[in-house]
Amino acid sequence: MMRQYELVDRVRKYNPHADEELLNRAYVYAMKAHGAQKRASGDPYFSHPLEVAAILTDLKLDDATIVAAVLHDTIEDTSSTREEIDQIFGREIGALVDGLTKLKKLDLVSKRAEQAENFRKLLLAIADDVRVLVVKLADRLHNMRTLHFVPPDKRKRIAEETLDIYAPLAGRMGMQHMRDELENLSFKTLMPEACAMIEARLADLRMKNVALISKIEDELREALSARGIVADVKGREKAPYSVWKKMERKSIAFEQLSDIFGFRLLVGSVEDCYRVVGIIHTKWPFVPGRFKDYISTPKQNDYRSLHTTVVGPGRQRVELQVRTEDMHDIAENGIAAHALYKDGRANDSDALSRESRAYRWLRRTIELLAEGDSPEEFLEHTKLELFHDQVFCFTPKGRLIALPRGATPIDFAYAVHTDVGNNAVGAKINGRIAPLLSELANGDEVEVAVAVGQVPPAAWESLVVTGKARSAIRRATRDAVREQYAGLGRQIVTRAFERAGKAFSDDKLKGALPRLARQNVEDMLAAVGRGEMFSGDVVKAVYPDFKEERKAGVAAQKSEAGWFGLKKAASLVFKVPGAEVLDDSQAIPIRGLGGDLPVRFAPNGGAVPGDRIVGILTPGEGITIYPIQSPALMDFDDQPERWLDVRWDIDEDRRDYFPARLIVTAINEPGTLGMIATVLGDASANIDHVEFISHSPDFRDIVLDIAVLDLAHLNGIIAQLKAKPVVSKVERVNG
Ligand code: MN
Repeated sequence: MMRQYELVDRVRKYNPHADEELLNRAYVYAMKAHGAQKRASGDPYFSHPLEVAAILTDLKLDDATIVAAVLHDTIEDTSSTREEIDQIFGREIGALVDGLTKLKKLDLVSKRAEQAENFRKLLLAIADDVRVLVVKLADRLHNMRTLHFVPPDKRKRIAEETLDIYAPLAGRMGMQHMRDELENLSFKTLMPEACAMIEARLADLRMKNVALISKIEDELREALSARGIVADVKGREKAPYSVWKKMERKSIAFEQLSDIFGFRLLVGSVEDCYRVVGIIHTKWPFVPGRFKDYISTPKQNDYRSLHTTVVGPGRQRVELQVRTEDMHDIAENGIAAHALYKDGRANDSDALSRESRAYRWLRRTIELLAEGDSPEEFLEHTKLELFHDQVFCFTPKGRLIALPRGATPIDFAYAVHTDVGNNAVGAKINGRIAPLLSELANGDEVEVAVAVGQVPPAAWESLVVTGKARSAIRRATRDAVREQYAGLGRQIVTRAFERAGKAFSDDKLKGALPRLARQNVEDMLAAVGRGEMFSGDVVKAVYPDFKEERKAGVAAQKSEAGWFGLKKAASLVFKVPGAEVLDDSQAIPIRGLGGDLPVRFAPNGGAVPGDRIVGILTPGEGITIYPIQSPALMDFDDQPERWLDVRWDIDEDRRDYFPARLIVTAINEPGTLGMIATVLGDASANIDHVEFISHSPDFRDIVLDIAVLDLAHLNGIIAQLKAKPVVSKVERVNG
């Protein structure tokens, strides 16, 4: 176990101004607090916080961080309190230890599903101080180094968590060295055979190439010193886990890995980095496309270096990384390499000026939390950076649902289960009722309210972002529409059998399916409902001897007359008493028109207030008002000079009526037109003209020229008509 003076010496080595008395006080306090506690290894517990502190002295961290490491388990595992730590060591250290205590509690939560939740809280805790996270990583590293003393199942869980959460986080903070060690220790625990295999192959390769490697090192050193550059040349070997990952990712064998050996050249200045690459490229042919300049364009985590590959001594492909000592420090230790928390170098303006992107990233997130004081906002920004295209949300039971950015509670519901999505009727986000179309944010807890037997609105399809939700909605709406058509088809078919005086049952229909080339009854009825198949053909398929409907022409004529019981459509015209329909003789209430040109509505369908409208000028004739969605406007696309910008100018006190045209597709059945007339009468709308178009024995299209007050009035009428069981479709005709 590390002695008191050893700890002080380690710190003193990089920080001559270290507070020796503070370090000693922490050592004694923690030793007493942990007392006779033992670790799984049988060592005194106190050896653990000391080792964590030692790891952090290797990273040359400030006194407060080292002291916090020594004290990191005291509040959780001993009778110490936050107040006591504050009193003895000050509030800065108290806050660090407090943050670590919070994280320690999370380690006790053991289920894999909760790892991401841990991660979320872990990130939240950084808000207190980045140093909390650095100590936590060192704590995890020491626990991983001593993992073999822990029972096997717990061991596996800790290794998985390390690989899933802590190693990537170390990487994101630029702490490559920490990341490599965490990954390799996890790898060894989780896949001992694979790890041993790769380690053995690496050792074998190293042995075989020992002469070649030192030859390359020597040649590099000589070439550079001949040009007056002193470089620290080191053979570099890939870590077992990164070799494994590459083999997995590219599914290649160990022998096919080309970059197991590389060389790292550390030089004194940025200029030397470029000179070194120049010298090497002149001496050996370089491999095109492999030169990378991460000095002028650093990586996201502030990694800076020059990379190149040459065909070097012995015709061997050699990978080279060229960088300064400072760059190397950052490449290895990232956030921990920065001077800002280091007492000894805080005055070094050069060190301060190279504030890293990684540091800025972390500081920005901390500032955001400090300003907004909202964990949601903090999560939003941190995780955006870590996983910029994803959001992480939780079910009320704590299950993590990862979704693409922009996802809604509907996406969430479908991610939980297709049935939850299909039956979703509402959502609560973080306990508060929210629209199903809200955009979810990181950390949201989402509760979906369901009601059995719902059909998702088809419009959802274009509003969701996940493919799963989209295809499920498409399937559900298609099924629902099919069901509606099948219902309509059943009415038609039932009526047709009645007319024919023939018995009708689903079993009889089933027997006729092959003749109608349909898979099932539902399918066949839907085809009738859509008008793709005639009810008469269904009757004939069931009763091949049935003859009556053969005289199609006569039947159709008869049915049209019988259906409506009318001779002439025009006789149906009626007006709402007192409601005057605007005509050409009256002033059309539209603004934006100059002069005395005659104004009229589009001949086929008109326009009603609420429509966005356009005026089209016809020289010598006047101005025609079209709704903006009118297909007729396409004819004027290449004549912009004829387009007039017009607006409605409605007098609230008047009840003017405006022309609109509908096409109603309805089942060929007596009483249909009466029903339509009732709907329009109840809605106080005028019918100006009615026309029938027949396109099948089962359906009629009814063209209705009506007069309405405005778009809301018209839409209300359309909805009323659509709600009638005999109506299969209502469409507005636009100008
Ligand atoms: Mn610990």
